[in-house]
Amino acid sequence: MTRLAQTAGLNDIQREILSTVRDFVDKEIIPVATRLEHRDEYPTEIVEGLKELGLFGLMIPEEYGGLGESLLTYALCVEEIARGWMSVSGIINTHFIVAYMLKQHGTQEQKDTFLPRMALGEVRGAFSMSEPALGSDVSAISSKGVKDGDEYVLNGQKMWLTNGGTSTLVAVLCRSDEGHPEGTAPHKSMTTFLVEKEPGFGEVRPGLTIPGKIDKMGYKGVDTTELIMDDLRIPANRVLGGATGRGFYQMMDGVEVGRVNVAARGCGVAQRAFELGVSYAQQRHTFGKPIAQHQAIQFKLAEMATKVEAAHAMMVNAARKKDSGERNDLEAGMAKYLASEYCKEVVEDAFRIHGGYGFSKEYEIERLYREAPMLLIGEGTAEIQKMIIGRRLLEEYRFQG
Ligand SMILES: Cc1cc2nc3c(=O)[nH]c(=O)nc-3n(C[C@H](O)[C@H](O)[C@H](O)COP(=O)(O)OP(=O)(O)OC[C@H]3O[C@@H](n4cnc5c(N)ncnc54)[C@H](O)[C@@H]3O)c2cc1C
Repeated sequence: MTRLAQTAGLNDIQREILSTVRDFVDKEIIPVATRLEHRDEYPTEIVEGLKELGLFGLMIPEEYGGLGESLLTYALCVEEIARGWMSVSGIINTHFIVAYMLKQHGTQEQKDTFLPRMALGEVRGAFSMSEPALGSDVSAISSKGVKDGDEYVLNGQKMWLTNGGTSTLVAVLCRSDEGHPEGTAPHKSMTTFLVEKEPGFGEVRPGLTIPGKIDKMGYKGVDTTELIMDDLRIPANRVLGGATGRGFYQMMDGVEVGRVNVAARGCGVAQRAFELGVSYAQQRHTFGKPIAQHQAIQFKLAEMATKVEAAHAMMVNAARKKDSGERNDLEAGMAKYLASEYCKEVVEDAFRIHGGYGFSKEYEIERLYREAPMLLIGEGTAEIQKMIIGRRLLEEYRFQG
């Protein structure tokens, strides 16, 4: 498909990167995605290919061995990858968020230590805010880091870590009371700890356990886990940015760029669903003609394509706003909200176009149908996006009476 989801104004390098990624997706991801997904198998070969393409370092500055590309380039790559298999974009996304947080907020020593190896994909990032009792309400975090000499002692349980098993560096958000007396506002008493660990499951470092993979309805292949800290000792130089009390802002900054990427994933999955629907509609005949010739199906295709276009335009706008150095929380919230809702609707329409075959595991749309709902939840639910959008609108359109 070439007509939809085009992006005007890209430079030669961006066009070349995107064409290479699209080629990789068509040849190396789409042919194997559904088989691996049904087996819940980690896509090791695909990940190796992504490393060779330099995608783990796409936005890491060149001085640290990355490609130094913009958020827009990154988001467009994510869109392409999600078109092939959403789980693969999940493997890169948490890595990207941690690298971004290090780049924006890390001390020089932290950047020098981690970014060059992250650019190569040797160190792989995950980020951890959610706990069993909370996801949307980050201010309720109960995991704690307490200072003990030159170290912090971390205790608590975390939930829903994408890449929890395969990662080797986890940015963990904890409450830290050191220097922040009782009664300090929750967002001023949180700290991001950079926790290095071995990949795998079980006790991956003294005091740190990653139990097995959570069994999910979709978004398979990529490992999602819990993380248990039991007197986990972290040196003080692994506090992100070197000072406690900034963790909430650092994480929100990371999640904001993450939202553009979830929007990009929604765009990619919706594009694939459209491709599958428009192709099937021209092959399946009912009442003497291809179903694409029935107006009801053509209307569905028209709606699907319009949603693909609208979501892509909003995602690109949000990425460009961030790249220009402007605040983009409004645009990122809108793009994430719209792209994830439209993705679910486009996938549902493509599923309906497939009739009974859409329900068969032989058809790719079955996988997309189980994947799309995750985008309604990750990086903040629709309700949370609407809260962000609403608050920002009231700031922008303050009543002057
Ligand atoms: C597959 C997967 C991967 C994930 N990966 C990660 C990860 O890598 N790192 C990480 O930290 N987290 C991760 N998460 C967690 C994810 O961010 C949370 O699930 C999400 O933020 C929602 O939180 P919750 O599940 O606790 O739902 P809750 O916060 O309990 O919300 C439940 C419902 O209530 C609604 N709601 C909540 N508060 C309000 C309100 N004030 N007003 C109106 N409605 C409200 C929500 O929109 C939702 O519909 C992942 C989740 C999944 C499913």
